[in-house]
Amino acid sequence: MGEFDLIRRFFTRPATRAVLGVGDDCALLQPAAGMQLAISTDMLVEGRHFLSTVDPFKLGHKALAVNLSDLAACGARPLAFTLALALPRADEAWLEPFSRGLLALADAHGCELVGGDTTQGPLNICITVFGEVPRGQALLRSGARAGDDLYVSGTLGDARLALEVFRGTLSAPAEVFEQARARMEQPTPRVALGQALRGVATAAVDISDGLLGDLGHILQASGVGARVDTSVAMNLIASNNRATWTSAAFSSEKWLELVLSGGDDYELAFTAPASARAAVQVASVQAQTRVTRIGCIEAETGLHLVDAQGQAMPHRYASFDHFA
Ligand code: ADP
Ligand code: MG
Repeated sequence: MGEFDLIRRFFTRPATRAVLGVGDDCALLQPAAGMQLAISTDMLVEGRHFLSTVDPFKLGHKALAVNLSDLAACGARPLAFTLALALPRADEAWLEPFSRGLLALADAHGCELVGGDTTQGPLNICITVFGEVPRGQALLRSGARAGDDLYVSGTLGDARLALEVFRGTLSAPAEVFEQARARMEQPTPRVALGQALRGVATAAVDISDGLLGDLGHILQASGVGARVDTSVAMNLIASNNRATWTSAAFSSEKWLELVLSGGDDYELAFTAPASARAAVQVASVQAQTRVTRIGCIEAETGLHLVDAQGQAMPHRYASFDHFA
């Protein structure tokens, strides 16, 4: 199978919403009147972002999911994406499930594959997504204000739990591991929630490198600080609440570490004024995505963790940094 056969077989489908899809030198998109394009790129490198043994169907899902998560954080609606793929060899047994996983998630979000590049080399998957957002309404990292509430969507820390089980640094019952593993391998981008939060949230970010690190981006861009209630945050990890397993499995510090600095969850962290609490609930119901208020934004810069009694807790949780 040559390069062009490969592209035709696995990555070419008739364009539906795009003006021109795969096959020419450029794809063509027609932005709707009054809309801005939201664009984001994410790369997945074997050994860095995924294990060589991962199911290619799930890898296809994840490669697009992490990109859709960036659109979600901006409140954008997905339109289209391009796929730059380096492959060691043209292996149909890998390409078939990979493209199925990728395109199933694409279809679920009406996000069309419109082009890309294919080359031989160490396995590397780079996707660029294009979305649209009404002019001036994109959610940014810079809009948080002192007094805002701080929220996160879904659950946090389960993907990291799975990674630690894979690495052998933690152990968990098979049922707990399987559910945590699904969070790591097939994250759910919060696309509907991001759009529902337009005009409600003041700032948002998607959590890829851990809550505290990614929240730090909002704080820095907005010039504010935050207080996080650890007694609430600790319950965000789904694995801690399984009936078959109790929080006694690890120390409470370990649970907290998974939630606060575990990466790969692809949930949204966002801020909204206290006057918007009802509107946040409406967005949550509309998007069928749970949100939890975990703290607030403060004028004083820095990130402060407090316990159930509101007492300051020392911490040295770090987030993931490729070059640290
Ligand atoms: P060019 O020579 O202009 O770079 P290519 O020969 O690399 O174009 O690609 C031919 C067509 O196939 C282009 O429309 C390109 O966007 C598309 N394409 C290449 N690789 C992929 C891929 N992995 N997924 C989707 N489309 C692809
Ligand atoms: Mg090319």
